[in-house]
Formats: sequence, C-alpha cells, structure tokens
Amino acid sequence: MITALGGGVGAAKFLKGLTKLVPYKELTLIINTADDIELYGFNISPDIDTIIYRLSGNIDTDKGWGLKDDSLNVLNSLSAFGVETWFGLGDRDFATQVFKKELSQSGKTKTEITNLTASSFGLENLNILPMSDESVETWIETSEGIMHFQEYYIKHRMEPEVTGINLRGITEANPSPGVLEAITKSELIIICPSNPIISIGPILDVKGIREEIVNSPAKVIAVSPLIGGKPLKGPADKLMRGLGLEASSSEIANLYKDFLDVMVLDDSDSGEVEKINSLGIKTFVTDTIMTDDEKSKILSEKIMEYLGN
Ligand code: GDP
Repeated sequence: MITALGGGVGAAKFLKGLTKLVPYKELTLIINTADDIELYGFNISPDIDTIIYRLSGNIDTDKGWGLKDDSLNVLNSLSAFGVETWFGLGDRDFATQVFKKELSQSGKTKTEITNLTASSFGLENLNILPMSDESVETWIETSEGIMHFQEYYIKHRMEPEVTGINLRGITEANPSPGVLEAITKSELIIICPSNPIISIGPILDVKGIREEIVNSPAKVIAVSPLIGGKPLKGPADKLMRGLGLEASSSEIANLYKDFLDVMVLDDSDSGEVEKINSLGIKTFVTDTIMTDDEKSKILSEKIMEYLGN
C-alpha cells in the first residue's frame, strides 16, 4: 500500500504520473482542505477538486486547475449583481459545487462528498480522502491586514508582505475516517510536490497524522516543489520567508526531518544535497519538472526505480 499526501496543482500533476504505475486499489490520497473557502454560497475545496479534475482527465491543462472547455457565464452574470468574482469558477465547476452542496445539505460529510464526487468523475476505485471532515481555513497575516489565503493568492496576487499564517480550526480538526489506517498500512508514504506551509503543513498538523507518520515503519519520501529554490507556481517561497524560513529544498527537508527518509530534488537544486544529507536524509536528484503526463510518469518511474520497486 502507498499513501500520498498532497495539495492541489503540483500534487495533481505528480499523481497523474504515479497512478499510471500504481493501481488505484493500492493507493490512498490524503488531500489538504485547509485552503477551502466559503464563496458564492458554496464550501469550495480547491485542492480536492483539482486532484479529481486532473486524475479523471478533465483538468484545464493550461491553467493547471478548473475544468477543461469551461465557460464563465455564471460568473459574468454574478458580477452584474455586484458580487465580487475574483475567484474564477467556471460554469461546469459551478455544477460540481451545486452537486456537493446538495450532498452537504442532506447530511453527508466531506469524506462522503469527496468520494461521491470522485465517483461521478469515474474515479470510484481511487481512495481520495480529505485530511479532515472538520473545517480548517488558512488566513494570512500581511502588511495589508489579515485575509483568507485565496484572497491573498488570487485577489491580491501575493503582493502584500506575509508576516504570519493562521490555520483556523486546526487544533479541533480530527483526521477523516481512514486516514490513520491508510498510513499504518502503507509501506511507502509519498509527500507530493506541494506547498510545505499551506498544503502539507496543515495535513501534518491535523491531530495524530504527523505522529502516525513518524511512528510508521514505512519509507517516507518527499518530492520538492521548488525548482532552483523557487516554486513553479504559487507562494511557497513568499510564505516560507514570511515565517522566517529560507526558501529552499533543504529547509523543506528540515521541516520534514522527523519522518523523512528520502528527498527528491530537481537537478537545478543539486547544490542542496550535502545540506540535506547532513540532516540524515538521503537525496535523489533528477528532472522533476512535469510539463506533461508523460514527464509525470517518467518522474514516478525514476523514483520507483530508485526505491527498488
Ligand atoms: P496549490 O495548493 O494548488 O497551490 O498546489 P500545491 O500545494 O500542490 O503547490 C503548488 C506547488 O507545486 C508549487 O510550489 C509548485 O512549485 C509545485 N509544482 C507545480 N508543478 C510542479 C512540477 O512540475 N514539478 C515540481 N517539482 N513541483 C511542481
């Protein structure tokens, strides 16, 4: 059994390759829900939707999120009512949210909603779990005040200076059913190339998850989301610096050092190898830029070959 922890865009690209090698029934995905947001009357889970859309072949590959061939009629009509429409949800994506909302109103949990949504997209055999059924929200403290992560990222285009991060609800959040069991049963745990602060960090902070990974006999590997010390997309470097950390793969390895066995690094970060090895963590240096599904598959093949599987 393999368990993978991930956020949205980077994780989805990586998992598209991994699932070409590993059968769905041998895999459990634990996905971040700390960037969920209440908007347009819905509780939107961007990371879970991104994973489902990419793995089911429905992603807008140019953007890396949202559904392909989507349109913006609902959003444009909403703006005529004076509603703020900075969060770009397409028409087909609105249908996903209506489906989820109906399930939520009938009493279904986030885990059940995720499962039913994934099944509707043809992923009935893949175990996709939200990190928790309880609500967690990421709020960013900035030079311009505190704001929801999506507001900081999309509306304010990551411009305000980050001074702190607040995960609302995290101390009360319990792992969703199946999360701890999946970790216990796994021989391999993969930390996807996702934001270490606001995607992987919150998953590890949910009650018991980090301890379960630390105590697990499984091999734990992480794929760095940084290329030459920078994210391909998103605010990983800005958030790390905002917390007084260095934006580097060795700093990420340091964040995971209580459980990490192997860090997979991009060729452009080979200068970090010694520093990571000095933490007692092995390194595997390769091309980690996944420009298409084939490159994602090749990356997973190389990792499996390195691990001797
Ligand atoms: P988000 O929550 O949708 O922003 O997605 P993630 O938590 O998955 O984080 C995005 C991270 O994925 C960024 O730090 C990117 O650098 C990383 N990423 C995206 N594409 C790639 C890729 O092709 N290779 C690697 N190594 N990282 C990637």
